[in-house]
Amino acid sequence: MYGLMVVERKDSVTENKQPEAFVCSQCGELHPIAMKYSVKVPQAAIDLSKDELDERLVISPDQCVIDGRDFYLRGRLLVPVAGVEEPFVWGVWAEVGPTDFIRTNERWSVEGRELEPAFPGWLNTRLPLFGDTINLEVDVKTQVVGWRPQLTVRDESHPLAVEQRHGITLDRVREIAEQIAHLNP
Ligand SMILES: [Zn+2]
Repeated sequence: MYGLMVVERKDSVTENKQPEAFVCSQCGELHPIAMKYSVKVPQAAIDLSKDELDERLVISPDQCVIDGRDFYLRGRLLVPVAGVEEPFVWGVWAEVGPTDFIRTNERWSVEGRELEPAFPGWLNTRLPLFGDTINLEVDVKTQVVGWRPQLTVRDESHPLAVEQRHGITLDRVREIAEQIAHLNP
């Protein structure tokens, strides 16, 4: 289920003098440490068969439409990390309503679009570290032109929301890397 997830390492990782790899407590191998994990397509698109793709899917790096009626936006779910300037980033997709999708499209290149109010979305990416995250409700906040929207988990008691609000440690970043390295494909 993580087949499409790619690890992207930011320059800031080295700037912050973090280790780029660490010895895994589960297997003893070296695993890369990353401050960002992202998924290229929403789960709903992963679930389509190859035959269905041409007919049902329209996708760009930031937007996705299925059957002309289900709408998805790629966003960034930021998690502060203690002692590190740059946040940890989950690059994930959220399903959004048609009106908000169209509005987002209309304002895609419009200066000042970050003043748009947040609108609701529902995660469409599986993050097994946090249980079932499909349809987990998020606030979608448009950013300045050129940046993906920021997503905030609405249910404050959800483990992902807790990490997002209170931040995590570098040890936790390492633990996440370890868990992702050992997820069943
Ligand atoms: Zn390992």
